[in-house]
Amino acid sequence: MEPAPDFVSRVIAGGSEAAVDRSRRDFLRAAATLLVGLNLPQTSLAGGGQHGAGGSGQRAVIVIFGGVRRSETFSPEGLENISHLSRDLLSQSLFYPDTRNEGVTAHFNAISSILTGNWQRVDDWGKIAPTTPTLFEHFRKRLGAAQSDTWVVASNKALTSLIGASSASGYGPVYGANVVFPKQLMVAAVANALRAGRSRNLADRAKIESELESMLEAGNYEGLGWTVFDAADRLDPRVRGIIEEAITTFVRDGGPTSGDELTFLVSREVMRKFSPRLLVVIFSDVEVAHFGSYALHVGGIRTGDRLAYQLWQEIEANAEYKGKTTMVILPEFGRDPDGSTTNGFFNHRGDTDSTRSTWMMALGAAVDKPRIVERPIRHVDLCATLSGLLGCPPMESQGARLTEMRV
Ligand SMILES: [Zn+2]
Repeated sequence: MEPAPDFVSRVIAGGSEAAVDRSRRDFLRAAATLLVGLNLPQTSLAGGGQHGAGGSGQRAVIVIFGGVRRSETFSPEGLENISHLSRDLLSQSLFYPDTRNEGVTAHFNAISSILTGNWQRVDDWGKIAPTTPTLFEHFRKRLGAAQSDTWVVASNKALTSLIGASSASGYGPVYGANVVFPKQLMVAAVANALRAGRSRNLADRAKIESELESMLEAGNYEGLGWTVFDAADRLDPRVRGIIEEAITTFVRDGGPTSGDELTFLVSREVMRKFSPRLLVVIFSDVEVAHFGSYALHVGGIRTGDRLAYQLWQEIEANAEYKGKTTMVILPEFGRDPDGSTTNGFFNHRGDTDSTRSTWMMALGAAVDKPRIVERPIRHVDLCATLSGLLGCPPMESQGARLTEMRV
Protein backbone atom coordinates (compact mmCIF):
# COMPACT_ATOMS: atom_id res chain seq x y z
CA MET A 1 0.00 0.00 0.00
CA GLU A 2 1.03 3.59 -0.37
CA PRO A 3 2.45 5.33 2.68
CA ALA A 4 0.17 7.83 4.35
CA PRO A 5 1.12 11.27 3.02
CA ASP A 6 1.39 12.93 6.41
CA PHE A 7 3.71 10.15 7.51
CA VAL A 8 6.18 10.26 4.67
CA SER A 9 6.00 13.80 3.50
CA ARG A 10 6.39 15.43 6.85
CA VAL A 11 9.68 17.16 6.52
CA ILE A 12 11.56 17.64 9.70
CA ALA A 13 13.11 21.04 9.67
CA GLY A 14 16.61 21.38 10.93
CA GLY A 15 17.25 17.84 11.99
CA SER A 16 19.40 19.09 14.83
CA GLU A 17 22.69 17.68 13.68
CA ALA A 18 24.65 18.34 16.81
CA ALA A 19 27.97 19.81 15.91
CA VAL A 20 30.60 17.36 16.91
CA ASP A 21 33.72 18.79 18.37
CA ARG A 22 36.48 18.58 15.81
CA SER A 23 39.16 17.21 18.07
CA ARG A 24 36.83 14.49 19.25
CA ARG A 25 36.07 13.59 15.68
CA ASP A 26 39.75 13.55 14.83
CA PHE A 27 40.33 11.25 17.74
CA LEU A 28 37.60 8.87 16.71
CA ARG A 29 38.74 8.80 13.12
CA ALA A 30 42.31 8.07 14.12
CA ALA A 31 41.15 5.46 16.59
CA ALA A 32 39.09 3.72 13.92
CA THR A 33 42.04 3.68 11.57
CA LEU A 34 44.21 2.28 14.30
CA LEU A 35 41.78 -0.37 15.45
CA VAL A 36 41.40 -1.73 11.97
CA GLY A 37 45.09 -1.35 11.24
CA LEU A 38 45.84 -3.42 14.32
CA ASN A 39 44.10 -6.33 12.79
CA LEU A 40 45.52 -6.37 9.37
CA PRO A 41 47.44 -9.56 8.95
CA GLN A 42 50.96 -8.71 7.81
CA THR A 43 50.39 -10.26 4.43
CA SER A 44 47.33 -8.26 3.59
CA LEU A 45 48.50 -4.80 4.59
CA ALA A 46 48.54 -3.86 0.97
CA GLY A 47 46.03 -6.28 -0.39
CA GLY A 48 42.63 -5.72 1.14
CA GLY A 49 40.10 -8.45 1.79
CA GLN A 50 40.26 -11.93 0.38
CA HIS A 51 36.97 -13.37 -0.72
CA GLY A 52 35.80 -16.87 -1.31
CA ALA A 53 34.45 -17.49 -4.77
CA GLY A 54 30.95 -18.72 -3.97
CA GLY A 55 27.73 -16.82 -3.67
CA SER A 56 25.55 -14.43 -5.56
CA GLY A 57 27.88 -11.45 -5.59
CA GLN A 58 25.37 -9.66 -3.39
CA ARG A 59 26.35 -8.09 -0.09
CA ALA A 60 24.41 -7.43 3.08
CA VAL A 61 24.89 -4.87 5.83
CA ILE A 62 22.70 -5.28 8.90
CA VAL A 63 22.42 -2.28 11.21
CA ILE A 64 20.96 -3.07 14.60
CA PHE A 65 20.00 -0.39 17.13
CA GLY A 66 19.44 -1.24 20.76
CA GLY A 67 15.92 -0.89 22.08
CA VAL A 68 13.85 2.00 20.74
CA ARG A 69 10.14 2.48 20.96
CA ARG A 70 7.89 3.42 18.12
CA SER A 71 6.86 6.49 20.11
CA GLU A 72 10.38 7.94 19.85
CA THR A 73 10.92 6.87 16.21
CA PHE A 74 8.29 6.05 13.60
CA SER A 75 5.38 7.87 15.15
CA PRO A 76 4.23 11.41 14.44
CA GLU A 77 5.93 12.70 17.58
CA GLY A 78 9.04 10.57 17.09
CA LEU A 79 9.91 11.46 13.50
CA GLU A 80 11.94 14.47 14.51
CA ASN A 81 14.42 12.09 16.17
CA ILE A 82 14.99 10.13 12.99
CA SER A 83 15.14 12.78 10.32
CA HIS A 84 17.50 10.79 8.10
CA LEU A 85 15.56 7.56 8.26
CA SER A 86 12.23 9.29 7.75
CA ARG A 87 13.26 12.03 5.34
CA ASP A 88 16.21 10.64 3.37
CA LEU A 89 15.73 6.88 3.39
CA LEU A 90 12.10 5.90 3.96
CA SER A 91 10.93 6.83 0.48
CA GLN A 92 13.47 4.50 -1.15
CA SER A 93 12.97 1.61 1.23
CA LEU A 94 10.91 -1.42 1.89
CA PHE A 95 9.55 -0.54 5.29
CA TYR A 96 7.98 -3.00 7.71
CA PRO A 97 6.24 -0.96 10.43
CA ASP A 98 5.34 -3.99 12.56
CA THR A 99 8.48 -6.06 13.03
CA ARG A 100 8.18 -8.33 16.02
CA ASN A 101 10.55 -9.71 18.58
CA GLU A 102 8.69 -12.77 19.82
CA GLY A 103 11.64 -14.08 21.78
CA VAL A 104 13.59 -12.87 24.79
CA THR A 105 13.79 -9.06 24.88
CA ALA A 106 17.35 -8.96 26.18
CA HIS A 107 20.31 -7.95 24.07
CA PHE A 108 22.28 -11.10 23.46
CA ASN A 109 19.23 -13.23 22.85
CA ALA A 110 17.62 -10.65 20.58
CA ILE A 111 20.69 -10.17 18.43
CA SER A 112 21.47 -13.85 18.22
CA SER A 113 17.88 -14.53 17.20
CA ILE A 114 18.22 -11.99 14.38
CA LEU A 115 21.53 -13.52 13.30
CA THR A 116 20.43 -17.17 13.43
CA GLY A 117 16.82 -16.98 12.29
CA ASN A 118 15.76 -18.93 15.37
CA TRP A 119 14.52 -17.59 18.69
CA GLN A 120 17.47 -18.06 21.01
CA ARG A 121 17.02 -18.54 24.73
CA VAL A 122 20.60 -18.58 25.91
CA ASP A 123 22.31 -16.56 28.59
CA ASP A 124 21.34 -12.86 28.53
CA TRP A 125 24.95 -11.83 28.98
CA GLY A 126 26.44 -13.80 26.15
CA LYS A 127 28.14 -16.51 28.17
CA ILE A 128 26.58 -19.18 25.98
CA ALA A 129 26.75 -19.15 22.19
CA PRO A 130 23.59 -19.37 20.09
CA THR A 131 22.53 -22.99 19.68
CA THR A 132 21.78 -22.94 15.97
CA PRO A 133 24.12 -21.70 13.21
CA THR A 134 24.53 -17.99 12.61
CA LEU A 135 24.20 -16.56 9.14
CA PHE A 136 27.98 -16.09 9.21
CA GLU A 137 28.61 -19.79 9.71
CA HIS A 138 26.01 -20.80 7.16
CA PHE A 139 27.51 -18.43 4.59
CA ARG A 140 31.09 -19.48 5.26
CA LYS A 141 30.44 -23.22 5.45
CA ARG A 142 28.09 -23.49 2.50
CA LEU A 143 29.83 -21.08 0.17
CA GLY A 144 33.41 -21.13 1.38
CA ALA A 145 33.36 -17.44 2.27
CA ALA A 146 36.48 -16.21 4.03
CA GLN A 147 36.49 -15.02 7.62
CA SER A 148 37.33 -11.53 6.36
CA ASP A 149 33.97 -11.64 4.56
CA THR A 150 31.98 -11.68 7.80
CA TRP A 151 32.25 -9.07 10.54
CA VAL A 152 30.38 -7.85 13.58
CA VAL A 153 31.28 -4.40 14.88
CA ALA A 154 29.37 -3.61 18.05
CA SER A 155 29.07 -0.99 20.76
CA ASN A 156 26.85 -3.17 22.91
CA LYS A 157 28.37 -4.10 26.25
CA ALA A 158 25.96 -6.99 26.70
CA LEU A 159 27.49 -8.84 23.80
CA THR A 160 30.49 -11.13 23.80
CA SER A 161 32.54 -12.60 21.03
CA LEU A 162 30.18 -15.61 21.21
CA ILE A 163 27.80 -13.62 19.02
CA GLY A 164 30.01 -14.52 16.04
CA ALA A 165 29.43 -18.27 15.99
CA SER A 166 27.10 -20.91 17.41
CA SER A 167 27.59 -24.11 19.37
CA ALA A 168 25.81 -26.15 16.69
CA SER A 169 27.63 -29.31 15.74
CA GLY A 170 29.43 -29.07 12.44
CA TYR A 171 29.57 -25.28 12.74
CA GLY A 172 31.15 -23.06 15.41
CA PRO A 173 34.04 -20.58 15.56
CA VAL A 174 35.92 -22.14 12.64
CA TYR A 175 33.13 -20.69 10.48
CA GLY A 176 32.50 -17.65 12.66
CA ALA A 177 32.70 -13.92 12.02
CA ASN A 178 35.32 -11.44 13.11
CA VAL A 179 33.84 -9.74 16.15
CA VAL A 180 35.06 -6.31 17.22
CA PHE A 181 34.07 -4.14 20.16
CA PRO A 182 35.89 -0.86 19.51
CA LYS A 183 34.52 0.98 22.50
CA GLN A 184 35.69 -1.51 25.07
CA LEU A 185 39.19 -1.42 23.68
CA MET A 186 39.35 2.34 23.75
CA VAL A 187 37.70 2.65 27.12
CA ALA A 188 40.13 0.16 28.58
CA ALA A 189 43.07 1.90 26.97
CA VAL A 190 42.03 5.32 28.16
CA ALA A 191 41.12 4.09 31.64
CA ASN A 192 44.50 2.48 32.00
CA ALA A 193 46.17 5.58 30.71
CA LEU A 194 44.33 7.73 33.21
CA ARG A 195 45.08 5.33 36.01
CA ALA A 196 48.71 5.33 35.07
CA GLY A 197 48.83 9.10 34.82
CA ARG A 198 46.62 9.68 37.88
CA SER A 199 45.53 12.87 36.22
CA ARG A 200 43.54 14.14 33.30
CA ASN A 201 45.93 16.93 32.54
CA LEU A 202 48.70 15.01 30.84
CA ALA A 203 51.19 15.80 33.57
CA ASP A 204 52.68 12.45 32.83
CA ARG A 205 52.28 12.09 29.16
CA ALA A 206 55.18 9.72 28.69
CA LYS A 207 53.74 7.33 31.20
CA ILE A 208 50.34 7.39 29.58
CA GLU A 209 51.83 6.69 26.22
CA SER A 210 53.90 3.80 27.44
CA GLU A 211 50.88 2.32 29.17
CA LEU A 212 48.84 2.57 25.99
CA GLU A 213 51.66 1.12 24.00
CA SER A 214 51.94 -1.88 26.25
CA MET A 215 48.20 -2.42 26.09
CA LEU A 216 48.05 -2.13 22.37
CA GLU A 217 51.02 -4.41 21.92
CA ALA A 218 49.95 -6.94 24.49
CA GLY A 219 48.92 -9.28 21.73
CA ASN A 220 45.93 -10.67 23.55
CA TYR A 221 42.87 -8.72 22.59
CA GLU A 222 40.53 -11.45 23.78
CA GLY A 223 40.17 -9.82 27.15
CA LEU A 224 39.11 -6.63 25.47
CA GLY A 225 36.54 -8.29 23.30
CA TRP A 226 38.64 -8.94 20.24
CA THR A 227 38.60 -12.15 18.31
CA VAL A 228 40.10 -10.99 15.10
CA PHE A 229 42.86 -12.67 13.15
CA ASP A 230 45.34 -14.74 15.06
CA ALA A 231 48.19 -12.81 13.53
CA ALA A 232 47.19 -9.52 15.11
CA ASP A 233 49.96 -9.29 17.63
CA ARG A 234 51.87 -6.29 16.38
CA LEU A 235 50.85 -2.72 16.01
CA ASP A 236 51.42 -1.32 12.55
CA PRO A 237 54.07 1.37 13.13
CA ARG A 238 52.43 3.56 10.52
CA VAL A 239 49.41 4.08 12.68
CA ARG A 240 50.97 4.03 16.12
CA GLY A 241 51.83 7.70 16.07
CA ILE A 242 48.35 8.61 14.96
CA ILE A 243 46.65 6.78 17.76
CA GLU A 244 48.99 8.00 20.44
CA GLU A 245 48.41 11.54 19.36
CA ALA A 246 44.69 10.95 19.14
CA ILE A 247 44.46 9.42 22.57
CA THR A 248 46.53 12.24 23.96
CA THR A 249 44.04 14.71 22.55
CA PHE A 250 41.15 12.67 23.83
CA VAL A 251 42.55 12.46 27.32
CA ARG A 252 43.33 16.17 27.38
CA ASP A 253 39.87 17.18 26.25
CA GLY A 254 38.26 14.68 28.56
CA GLY A 255 34.85 15.04 26.94
CA PRO A 256 32.32 12.26 26.76
CA THR A 257 32.55 10.31 23.58
CA SER A 258 30.02 8.29 21.70
CA GLY A 259 30.66 4.59 21.45
CA ASP A 260 28.44 4.48 18.38
CA GLU A 261 30.49 7.13 16.64
CA LEU A 262 33.56 4.94 17.07
CA THR A 263 31.64 1.84 16.01
CA PHE A 264 30.58 3.64 12.84
CA LEU A 265 34.11 4.73 12.01
CA VAL A 266 35.54 1.28 12.61
CA SER A 267 32.78 -0.24 10.47
CA ARG A 268 33.56 2.14 7.65
CA GLU A 269 37.23 1.34 7.94
CA VAL A 270 36.47 -2.39 7.84
CA MET A 271 34.39 -1.83 4.70
CA ARG A 272 37.20 0.07 3.05
CA LYS A 273 39.95 -2.37 4.00
CA PHE A 274 38.19 -5.74 3.87
CA SER A 275 34.92 -5.10 2.03
CA PRO A 276 33.13 -7.92 3.83
CA ARG A 277 30.15 -9.41 2.05
CA LEU A 278 28.25 -9.69 5.31
CA LEU A 279 28.69 -6.93 7.88
CA VAL A 280 26.68 -6.46 11.06
CA VAL A 281 26.91 -3.12 12.85
CA ILE A 282 25.36 -2.85 16.29
CA PHE A 283 24.76 0.60 17.77
CA SER A 284 23.77 1.00 21.40
CA ASP A 285 24.05 4.62 22.51
CA VAL A 286 20.26 4.43 23.03
CA GLU A 287 20.84 2.01 25.91
CA VAL A 288 21.84 4.91 28.11
CA ALA A 289 18.09 4.74 28.82
CA HIS A 290 18.91 2.16 31.52
CA PHE A 291 20.42 5.03 33.50
CA GLY A 292 17.19 6.92 33.29
CA SER A 293 18.07 9.86 31.09
CA TYR A 294 15.36 10.37 28.52
CA ALA A 295 17.29 13.21 26.88
CA LEU A 296 20.39 11.07 26.42
CA HIS A 297 18.27 8.19 25.14
CA VAL A 298 16.74 10.43 22.50
CA GLY A 299 20.21 11.77 21.74
CA GLY A 300 21.28 8.16 21.11
CA ILE A 301 18.40 7.71 18.68
CA ARG A 302 19.47 10.84 16.79
CA THR A 303 23.06 9.65 16.68
CA GLY A 304 22.00 6.22 15.42
CA ASP A 305 19.79 7.81 12.78
CA ARG A 306 22.70 9.90 11.52
CA LEU A 307 25.23 7.06 11.62
CA ALA A 308 22.92 4.64 9.82
CA TYR A 309 22.51 7.26 7.12
CA GLN A 310 26.27 7.75 6.91
CA LEU A 311 26.73 4.00 6.53
CA TRP A 312 24.28 4.07 3.67
CA GLN A 313 26.21 6.95 2.10
CA GLU A 314 29.40 4.89 2.39
CA ILE A 315 27.68 1.99 0.61
CA GLU A 316 26.65 4.35 -2.17
CA ALA A 317 30.15 5.78 -2.47
CA ASN A 318 32.14 2.56 -2.19
CA ALA A 319 32.59 0.73 -5.49
CA GLU A 320 32.74 -2.64 -3.72
CA TYR A 321 29.23 -2.08 -2.36
CA LYS A 322 27.34 0.28 -4.62
CA GLY A 323 24.52 -1.36 -6.54
CA LYS A 324 24.99 -4.82 -5.06
CA THR A 325 24.32 -4.27 -1.39
CA THR A 326 21.20 -4.54 0.71
CA MET A 327 21.24 -2.66 4.00
CA VAL A 328 18.71 -3.54 6.65
CA ILE A 329 18.09 -1.38 9.72
CA LEU A 330 16.17 -2.63 12.73
CA PRO A 331 16.04 -2.23 16.51
CA GLU A 332 16.52 -5.23 18.80
CA PHE A 333 13.19 -4.50 20.45
CA GLY A 334 11.20 -1.55 21.72
CA ARG A 335 11.15 -0.40 25.32
CA ASP A 336 8.54 -0.60 28.03
CA PRO A 337 5.55 1.73 27.87
CA ASP A 338 5.27 4.84 30.01
CA GLY A 339 3.60 4.08 33.30
CA SER A 340 4.73 0.45 33.34
CA THR A 341 5.95 -1.19 36.53
CA THR A 342 9.42 -1.51 34.98
CA ASN A 343 10.02 2.24 34.77
CA GLY A 344 8.89 2.82 31.21
CA PHE A 345 11.62 3.63 28.71
CA PHE A 346 14.35 2.63 31.19
CA ASN A 347 13.85 -1.05 30.42
CA HIS A 348 12.72 -3.58 27.86
CA ARG A 349 11.17 -6.38 29.88
CA GLY A 350 7.47 -5.97 29.26
CA ASP A 351 5.40 -8.42 27.27
CA THR A 352 3.69 -5.57 25.46
CA ASP A 353 3.56 -4.18 21.96
CA SER A 354 5.68 -1.22 23.06
CA THR A 355 8.48 -3.68 23.86
CA ARG A 356 7.92 -6.33 21.19
CA SER A 357 6.83 -4.44 18.11
CA THR A 358 9.30 -2.26 16.27
CA TRP A 359 10.08 -1.69 12.61
CA MET A 360 12.55 -2.67 9.92
CA MET A 361 13.82 -0.79 6.90
CA ALA A 362 15.51 -2.43 3.90
CA LEU A 363 17.46 -0.38 1.36
CA GLY A 364 19.38 -1.10 -1.79
CA ALA A 365 19.72 -4.01 -4.16
CA ALA A 366 16.92 -6.18 -2.77
CA VAL A 367 14.36 -3.39 -2.94
CA ASP A 368 12.42 -3.77 -6.14
CA LYS A 369 9.72 -1.28 -5.39
CA PRO A 370 9.84 0.97 -2.33
CA ARG A 371 6.76 0.59 -0.20
CA ILE A 372 5.39 0.09 3.27
CA VAL A 373 4.49 -3.51 4.05
CA GLU A 374 1.91 -3.47 6.80
CA ARG A 375 1.68 -7.16 7.59
CA PRO A 376 3.57 -8.12 10.74
CA ILE A 377 6.93 -9.77 10.25
CA ARG A 378 9.32 -11.32 12.78
CA HIS A 379 13.00 -10.87 13.51
CA VAL A 380 13.66 -14.49 12.55
CA ASP A 381 12.43 -13.81 9.02
CA LEU A 382 15.49 -11.75 8.19
CA CYS A 383 18.05 -14.57 8.12
CA ALA A 384 15.99 -16.70 5.79
CA THR A 385 15.82 -13.74 3.43
CA LEU A 386 19.45 -12.66 3.57
CA SER A 387 20.65 -16.23 3.25
CA GLY A 388 18.90 -16.38 -0.12
CA LEU A 389 20.20 -12.96 -1.06
CA LEU A 390 23.80 -14.05 -0.47
CA GLY A 391 23.24 -17.11 -2.62
CA CYS A 392 23.19 -19.65 0.19
CA PRO A 393 20.95 -22.71 0.28
CA PRO A 394 18.04 -22.31 2.72
CA MET A 395 18.87 -22.22 6.43
CA GLU A 396 17.02 -24.20 9.05
CA SER A 397 15.10 -21.33 10.48
CA GLN A 398 11.89 -20.58 12.33
CA GLY A 399 11.52 -17.61 10.01
CA ALA A 400 9.98 -17.25 6.58
CA ARG A 401 11.54 -15.48 3.62
CA LEU A 402 10.30 -11.93 3.12
CA THR A 403 8.85 -12.19 -0.34
CA GLU A 404 8.90 -8.43 -0.93
CA MET A 405 12.69 -8.49 -1.03
CA ARG A 406 14.31 -9.51 -4.29
CA VAL A 407 16.80 -12.27 -3.71
ZN1 LIG B 1 19.16 -2.69 27.31
